[in-house]
Amino acid sequence: MSLFETAIAGSLPKPAWLAETEKLWPEWKASGPELGRLKDDATLLWLKLQEDAGLDIVGDGEQSRQHFVHGFLAQLEGIDFEHKVKMGIRNNRYDAMVPQVVGPLTLRGRVHEREARLVRAHTKKKVKFTLPGPMTIVDTVADRHYGEGKEGRIAMAFAFADLLNQEAKALVADGVDIVQFDEPAFNVYMTDAAEWGVAALERAAAGLDCTTAVHICYGYGIRANNDWKATLGAQWRQYEQVFPALAKSSIDQVSLECFHSHVPPGLMRLLDGKDVMVGVIDVASESVETPEQIAETIGTALQFVPRDRLIPCTNCGLAPMRREVAEAKLAALVQGAALARRRFGA
Ligand SMILES: [Zn+2]
Repeated sequence: MSLFETAIAGSLPKPAWLAETEKLWPEWKASGPELGRLKDDATLLWLKLQEDAGLDIVGDGEQSRQHFVHGFLAQLEGIDFEHKVKMGIRNNRYDAMVPQVVGPLTLRGRVHEREARLVRAHTKKKVKFTLPGPMTIVDTVADRHYGEGKEGRIAMAFAFADLLNQEAKALVADGVDIVQFDEPAFNVYMTDAAEWGVAALERAAAGLDCTTAVHICYGYGIRANNDWKATLGAQWRQYEQVFPALAKSSIDQVSLECFHSHVPPGLMRLLDGKDVMVGVIDVASESVETPEQIAETIGTALQFVPRDRLIPCTNCGLAPMRREVAEAKLAALVQGAALARRRFGA
């Protein structure tokens, strides 16, 4: 790969004509076939804007799903979406209305075929496609089928992992170059993540004929997450517990938050042998990073990550941001990586 290939975590803001803006679970502005056309238009719009910004790795910006977890669940048999219940998620950090698992889980058909093929047909760049990770799905649904306690949660995670694997293999056949699983739950349930979360993730990624990635973050820049981060102390060492298990895993790329976080950069050492997506863009602040700040963050990461394994990335998704801010941050990311290439390149 070329030096410092730029990528984003995955999600981008939805245009106001598609859905409510600046929300994590926005309502759509249309329904039926019209909604499908609007999703296609928004996907193509963001594909063009990512290319114009100069990103090396592009995606669908998650324009076709209401939420990064529930978008996948909507196509599953065994899930009751009609009767959502309120549940504290991410260890009760905030409440969400979540669907319920009510029976054996199967895929009703393809989940993301339409947007994956649309993106592939319209770009020559590397395409990354995101799916929720099994452990994070388990933390974003209510269970009425697999049973109480840890055994039930593990069984449900592996059932989701098999379905994710089925969809991921189909995405590879659609022409996707990188499949990324999003596992913010790894930073909340660190012991479980190391014990069985990484194994469930590997099941989801098993046998994929493409690059595989996992995104682990401290969440979107919403107030509940910002308040939680304020309680985590001077050093955020959550990654320390799961990175060793990931370093031994089959996953090729790992993302982490860096810029404006309290993650000790030295923890990147624990990802020896992996490509590291280094968060150089803060998603909790509307102020746009300067190329200098981004190059500096890359310089810090280079103390712990080999040059040819460093992918400058956003800390998390940009979905709840204002569109102008997101566009400016994409441009800054590319300019910062270019500056870093001049500064740290051969
Ligand atoms: Zn994230």
